[in-house]
Amino acid sequence: MVSPEQLEKESQRVEMDNLILRSFLKSRDSDEVDRLVNNMHEELFAQVDCILCSNCCKKIVPVLNEKDIARISKFLGFSISQFKKTYLRKHAGKWSMKNTPCPFLTPEGCSIYDVRPETCKEYPYTGKKEIVSRLFNLIDNCKICPVVFEIIQRLKVIYGREFQKYKRATAPYWR
Ligand code: SF4
Ligand code: SF4
Repeated sequence: MVSPEQLEKESQRVEMDNLILRSFLKSRDSDEVDRLVNNMHEELFAQVDCILCSNCCKKIVPVLNEKDIARISKFLGFSISQFKKTYLRKHAGKWSMKNTPCPFLTPEGCSIYDVRPETCKEYPYTGKKEIVSRLFNLIDNCKICPVVFEIIQRLKVIYGREFQKYKRATAPYWR
């Protein structure tokens, strides 16, 4: 699997192919894509050590809902307003961490792991259904998460001949 350090460069290398894959997947059976991606999610996350990687915690700011905020504030012994003032910012009506890397990231991993935000538990969303409705998100996360990068590369192989045919047929559009 590609290391977190190589991800940005490798993602740039396959950027156009990924955009074409995104377009190709839109026409596939949604349940089939879910099954393929969910199975790879199970297999690959069993092999990856997220503590060693932590790339998502370094590069993206998680969004927090009100339940997350109440749970984490209580865990830290902060009032909700203290917690918001210290760690969060509000943008477009949503609360998120102020900074990257996340202030709760330590060399041993997440220091609030048991009460971490729901979005952190679900990231990179490859274990969820309706992948086809979130393809932009999937392709975008390949720059951040080595598992997503690997899933996307494998999808190109799984759909091999059909994907290549689609690429040839739509080539003028992508130039
Ligand atoms: S709360 Fe924990 S899991 Fe979520 S981004 Fe911060 S360190 Fe990572
Ligand atoms: S979810 Fe992906 S980016 Fe985040 S720590 Fe695990 S492998 Fe790395």
